[in-house]
Amino acid sequence: MKLLSQLRTSSFQLALLYMVVFATSVFLLLAFIYWRTAGFMTAQTDETIEAEIAGLAEQYRGRGVNGLITIIRERVARDPNAKSIYLLTTDDFLKLAGNIETWPGGSRSSDTGWINFTLDSSVGWQGPERLARARIFEVQGGLKLLVGRDVEELTNLKRVIETAINWGMGITLALALLGGFLMSRGTTRRIEVINNTSRRIMNGHLSLRIPTRGTEDDFDQLAENLNQMLDRIVYLMEGIRHVSDSIAHDLRTPLTRLRNQLENTLIAVDNDEAREQVGRAVAEADQLLATFNALLRIARLETRGNSADMKVVSLDELVSDACELYEALAEEKEQSFAQSLEQGVMIEGDRDLLFQMISNLIDNAIKYTPEHGSIQVVVRRDGAGAVFEVQDSGIGIPDDEKGQVFQRFYRVGKSRSLPGNGLGLSLVSAVAEIHQGQILLSDTHEGEDPPGLTVTVRMPAYTGIRKRIKAAPAEQAEETQNDRSSSTETSSA
Ligand code: ATP
Ligand code: MG
Repeated sequence: MKLLSQLRTSSFQLALLYMVVFATSVFLLLAFIYWRTAGFMTAQTDETIEAEIAGLAEQYRGRGVNGLITIIRERVARDPNAKSIYLLTTDDFLKLAGNIETWPGGSRSSDTGWINFTLDSSVGWQGPERLARARIFEVQGGLKLLVGRDVEELTNLKRVIETAINWGMGITLALALLGGFLMSRGTTRRIEVINNTSRRIMNGHLSLRIPTRGTEDDFDQLAENLNQMLDRIVYLMEGIRHVSDSIAHDLRTPLTRLRNQLENTLIAVDNDEAREQVGRAVAEADQLLATFNALLRIARLETRGNSADMKVVSLDELVSDACELYEALAEEKEQSFAQSLEQGVMIEGDRDLLFQMISNLIDNAIKYTPEHGSIQVVVRRDGAGAVFEVQDSGIGIPDDEKGQVFQRFYRVGKSRSLPGNGLGLSLVSAVAEIHQGQILLSDTHEGEDPPGLTVTVRMPAYTGIRKRIKAAPAEQAEETQNDRSSSTETSSA
């Protein structure tokens, strides 16, 4: 599959195009060499034959048929290896002179011109089989003359050259294909790095930047431009956030004053209807103040202005405490509320912030799960991580909105009728970030309706405990070890 997607990349296709151009030029070069060597040698053979024919023709003109027969016999006698081939026959193919006995098969016609044939027993040849090339023509008076050359060596040489060309082309194609593949893989890898980083940035890791190699090549330039663009986006976002935080900050004091005045009025008036109305106004003001406070809290967490009070805390205990608070709420909605808490899962963190995060997630699960639904709260160790998970059977969040619910004030359409102002998950995200945690949203029952929601928060587990165990007495260390590996599951409806 990976190979297939590699072949589909534009860089591989570009490499393929270069390969075709390269292979074509290599082919043309080899064809030219072939033509200049093998072609040249064939032409030379033909020239030699023509020269012999010219010599024989002269003899014939001067001394007639007998002269021709004599010179052919002389030449045959002088050439025992039969490099040259002669055959002079009458018009009905009776041999008069020559070093082969019969006319080569298929040429028993009145054909003249060039032929290629095999020297074997069919032409009365005694020696080993060889290839020959000859020219046939009619001498005056119906005599037929064949003059040829043994071209076995030439043919062998041609074959060697052809084999070399075939191998050369094969190797060239294989190397070009491999080179193209490797070259395109290098390019694809760099694009993949950019793609992967972009995807992670889109998933909310806005502080990430695309790595550069420092080679100042076009990829580096692209990465630098994208990074600058990201810097600019972050700067603008910070600006917007700063404005909203400033509004919340500046309005908080007059709002508090207004609320207190309303409360004083509430005490002062004795008309029941007026009291009810003022009471509602106080509640509204409280809600508004709560929102402002939440907004400012998130802002402080994000800028780390509120430096967290990091201590070693037991995640399972913290979750158990929060569950105790929310069990009653779940019971009210007749939801099953189960806990699976592995014991002794320690993390380093701020107790209050973590408690707030856990509460927000359990609160959401109860709020967005209809009556008689089920909720399960899990704490477990996972490799070097500590995992806190809330699974519910509620309305769930569509996939394309899962990434957006961490934005401030973002609420999914169908949950807008329920109370809330879309700040809970922003706070969860800020707290998780401070604890180097990762949050994952997934469907509890994938493909079902409703899908439910599972929120998984994975934070680094506290590892320093081992160092402390070393310093502690042996039994205590053992006790702690046992504690950490046991797990309890409790469930309540
Ligand atoms: P609040 O500020 O009181 O928490 P809220 O619950 O609406 O208000 P968030 O907790 O930030 O805000 O959640 C944002 C949105 O994400 C919710 O409005 C809801 O649409 C969706 N959501 C959160 N948790 C769940 C859940 N467990 N199941 C389904 N939707 C959820
Ligand atoms: Mg909420």
